[in-house]
Amino acid sequence: MLPISPSRADHVAESLAVAPLDMAAAAGKLRLPAGPVLNREDIERVHSKDFTAALYGESPGGKRSLLEALLNAWELIDEQGRPHRYEPEQATRPLEELFEKVLVQVGGTYFACRLALEAEGFCYYLGGGLHHARYEGGTGFCLLNDIMIAARKIQAEGRAALVWVVDVDAHKGCGTAELIHLARLRGELRPPDAAGNTPLPRIFGLSIHMARGWPLDEETLAKARPGHAPLIPSDVEIPIEAGGEARYIPELAEGLRKLKRLSQAALPDLVIVVDGADPYEYDGLPSSSLLKLTLEQCVRRDRLIYDYFKQRNIPQAWIMAGGYGERAWEPVSAFLSTV
Ligand SMILES: [Zn+2]
Repeated sequence: MLPISPSRADHVAESLAVAPLDMAAAAGKLRLPAGPVLNREDIERVHSKDFTAALYGESPGGKRSLLEALLNAWELIDEQGRPHRYEPEQATRPLEELFEKVLVQVGGTYFACRLALEAEGFCYYLGGGLHHARYEGGTGFCLLNDIMIAARKIQAEGRAALVWVVDVDAHKGCGTAELIHLARLRGELRPPDAAGNTPLPRIFGLSIHMARGWPLDEETLAKARPGHAPLIPSDVEIPIEAGGEARYIPELAEGLRKLKRLSQAALPDLVIVVDGADPYEYDGLPSSSLLKLTLEQCVRRDRLIYDYFKQRNIPQAWIMAGGYGERAWEPVSAFLSTV
């Protein structure tokens, strides 16, 4: 009952009259065997061991733990534990199958990074963008954080050391920010101000988003989800107040300059762009209505990012992220038609 249009990717591809590369073809192009590209280690590199065990039905709750993780991530239960925007008796498939779907989505984001790196160019993935998924579990329709799983896997394989995440979804990239922060605390990523020549990989994140609305501010979120850690800001955090659309493009341009300063003037080996279409004025999700970019502004936003990295020869992996209702495909299509 969520306003997620299953045909969004098809609309984009049809409007551009291109045949997208599918997952199997992407695997072939990268000379990878068909089948799952991600393993449990890739998830545990980013998310907590307890959460991972729950997903694989190995926690004390058994299979019920996976179901609960899914219900939480898609917010399908209310505070009293009753179904919300979800009618289990109307289900045509077991909800648990969503886990497999999410693993495929996360694998797609990884493929997009690999293809972008391989071509030293640009790859747009018509999926992914699960930026709300946090260390201990999923939230905001995001079960696993594909951005961080892909970035950390790429780094672990030695394909990139410095990765930037540029998140322009209407909603704050709170899960990604938390996962970057926690990885730094564990000593797995280098902090922004550490001098010296430590070989640790680095990830810096930018998020430009609605100042208010979902995901809720810290206080409201803590109330809504007792026991959750407070939200952590991104390295470059750009909240836009309602009515502040004219500030959007200049602030984003300044944000890219800040990312470079944080990186001690180094440019990334790879950028992952979380290209939410939900700031679009015709987006169908009520909780994204506090930011209303026109189609022209959405395209200018995307071109600003695309041109910045293209001019510097930096591989760019774009993922589609948020976008709801019948017109969510329009900003993606309008941008891609200019590339
Ligand atoms: Zn969003």
